[in-house]
This record gives sequence, C-alpha cells and structure tokens, in this order.
Amino acid sequence: MRGSLEKVKLFLLAWTARIAIRALGEIRAILDRGHGHAHHALDDVIRLKEIMEDLGVFGRLNPHGSSFDKKVKVACGDGSHFLDLVLHDFLLAVRRGSKKIIQHFVALNGGALALSESLCTQEDEMFSPIRDDLVVLNHIRKALAIKQVNDVVLSIHWPCGVAELHHLSLLDQIEHLVAAKERLKSLAGQHGFPVDLKVVCEVHFARYDELTGRYVRKTYHVSATKWRAQKDEVVRRFTEANGGVASVVTETVVA
Ligand SMILES: [Zn+2]
Repeated sequence: MRGSLEKVKLFLLAWTARIAIRALGEIRAILDRGHGHAHHALDDVIRLKEIMEDLGVFGRLNPHGSSFDKKVKVACGDGSHFLDLVLHDFLLAVRRGSKKIIQHFVALNGGALALSESLCTQEDEMFSPIRDDLVVLNHIRKALAIKQVNDVVLSIHWPCGVAELHHLSLLDQIEHLVAAKERLKSLAGQHGFPVDLKVVCEVHFARYDELTGRYVRKTYHVSATKWRAQKDEVVRRFTEANGGVASVVTETVVA
C-alpha cells in the first residue's frame, strides 16, 4: 500500500515537472518572438566578449557569493529579458541548495546605466528635469533597508534600448556600469547606506542564433578593477581586430 502511494507521488511530481518545463519553454518562445530585431553589431559584440574574457574583465558569476541569495538588484525593466534575469538567479540559487532567497529589484530603464552620474546630468530633454540617478540611489537605499541586506548587484544588458537612445556603445555601457559601482561604493556608511555595502557588477547578453532561431542568453560578472586596469588594452585589441574602428555601437533596435 505504502509502495503504491510513493509511486503515485512520484508520478504526480514527474507530471508537474513536465508541465513546468513545458511552460518555461513556452515563456522562452514568447520572449524570443517579442524581440524580433536583427543584430547588426553581433560579430563585434562576440569579438569584444572574447577580449573581455581573455583579459579577465568578464568572468563567471560566483554562485557562492553572498550576493546570490540576498541582494538588491538594479536591472533594466526591459520585459524581453527581465524574466530571464529573475529565473536565472533563482535557478542558480536553487542549484547551490539555498533554502532562503531574498531579492529586491530596482528596475528602471537601463538598469545600472541610470545610476551613472555623467549620463544623468547630460543636457537631454528626454531625461531632464528628473535626475534618474538620484531616484535609483534612493530606491536602492530603501530596498536595502526593507530587505535588511548589504549587497547590491548592478546589472546592464545587451542589447539595451536605453543604451541606444543615448548612442552608447557596449564599451560605453561597461564604463558607465563601473562608474555606477564606484559611485555607489563611495556612499557606504553615508546617507543611510550600510557601512559594509557590497556592490557586484553583471552584464546580461541575449544573442540571436540564426541557426536555431532562438536567443542564447548569458550573464557575466564584470570586474571593475580589471576594467580600470585593462580598459586601454581592451580598446587596443578590439580596434586592432576590428580594422581600426574603436567603437561598438549598439545598432540593435529594442522595443
Ligand atoms: Zn534595457
């Protein structure tokens, strides 16, 4: 009797898992169709990613860091990619056996780009008179207090519609991301930010694969220290590999 009950339980579990996996697949397919624009600068971006990985600027995420389970995450609200960010974090946390996950999103246009002071103080009729950077800082501070955590993950993504609005290359995006981290870190222990504030940077890529007709999504950790040390070398190598053109303009049109 007990054995047959266990069999029924296992059957129900497998059945539920199958429905969940199918639903996830359908969600992914809807996200893929929702995008639907050509990526003109794709080759450049792949080349740049390789250089970044080679020089240690882009690296693997650390699923054992505290910021995986307890964090405030600043991410772009782009609906084509946001769900992937959330699912990705939860799946990695579950994989490492986390029993409790605390995360709070601050999701405005551009994600961490909105925290870059130089970007938000430009003369730009679309963004004035509201200072997005101050709004984001205030929301990070509130979210840290609400969730009682000290870790912030600053995230940007490619392709990003906001980057395009500002005519930012991927290199520009990384520079603004690192500047945002340095700015936030400098506020530790001030204006209500915790003394032991920890800030981690990430970049999320969604690359359209012509062969499969699906998006390949990947998130990298971005080392601010390595970027500061290797930025000139990144630009030099990329320029050399790219026939003398230094800028990777985000040509993709994103809804
Ligand atoms: Zn975006």
